[in-house]
Amino acid sequence: YAAKADGGRHRRYTADLDAGTDEEARLGAELRTALDQREFHLVYQPIVELPTGRCVAVESLVRWWHPDRGYIPPDVFIPVAERNGLIVELGEWILRTACRQYADWWRQGVAPYRFGVNVSARQLAEPGFVSLVAAILAETGVHPARLIVEVTETAVFGGGAAVRAVHELTELGVEIALDDFGTGHSSLGLLQTLPVRILKVDKSFVENVTMAGRHAVIATSLVHVANGLGLVAVAEGVETAEQAAELYRLGYRRAQGYHFGRPAMAQITPETATA
Ligand code: C2E
Ligand code: MG
Ligand code: MG
Ligand code: MG
Repeated sequence: YAAKADGGRHRRYTADLDAGTDEEARLGAELRTALDQREFHLVYQPIVELPTGRCVAVESLVRWWHPDRGYIPPDVFIPVAERNGLIVELGEWILRTACRQYADWWRQGVAPYRFGVNVSARQLAEPGFVSLVAAILAETGVHPARLIVEVTETAVFGGGAAVRAVHELTELGVEIALDDFGTGHSSLGLLQTLPVRILKVDKSFVENVTMAGRHAVIATSLVHVANGLGLVAVAEGVETAEQAAELYRLGYRRAQGYHFGRPAMAQITPETATA
């Protein structure tokens, strides 16, 4: 009897300890339902040329409105989808939806020059990922050079399958952007070997760029590195005209942020979004 009572206590204790894991499991299961019930949609945010503000590309961002819990940010559910493997199916849906949308804009004559799709570490390292990208581009009739695959430094830090995928994507003609640049692992070493064309400088450096300080120094250094290597630096999270002017002065020619346009549904074409 004692053993049984102990076992019961042990189970309760474990259940309390694993409260976070329960929430993870619940969210993971709800992601499965969400995929089946089509609860996801994509929004698109303009990436503009400085100083004109002309839209040169858009970034697609996934959105999830849960029927009971409302808006759940991608920063919350993408990591869960990565851990339970659903990112592979969700990521395929995202890629296909973004490519179809781009093809649609193209037919309407309103397509921006390029479009970016975020790809997570697990997706990138998944066998067959590059073949899937090639198949979706062929199926939607989108030219590979129009697609920018956004990956984080951390995703390619370990080398291996993810790095091979980056090389193969480049051979396909797809452009690679390093996202949240400066916040992940390693950074500069990657630029020696990875066929990256675009550095997306993280918004944490952009936020305080108008004030003398560490962030401004880093924002300045990163644009020098990018320009010196013949890469394109994109300043992320630009929220004010002052930041945009300062970034231009520092040498940035591409920017993205609420100042230029919020992520918006595709019904609003990129041209309308930046007007
Ligand atoms: P990210 O790829 O770095 O995307 C930029 C994030 O900054 C987006 O957040 C965007 O809404 C936000 N943002 C844009 N302009 C501003 C600004 O001026 N100020 C501020 N404070 N924020 C701004 P979001 O949409 O919540 O996405 C967060 C992250 O979730 C993304 O960061 C990306 O890592 C991930 N994510 C989003 N969509 C996808 C997707 O389709 N697939 C994958 N694998 N990850 C995604
Ligand atoms: Mg991104
Ligand atoms: Mg980013
Ligand atoms: Mg980010």
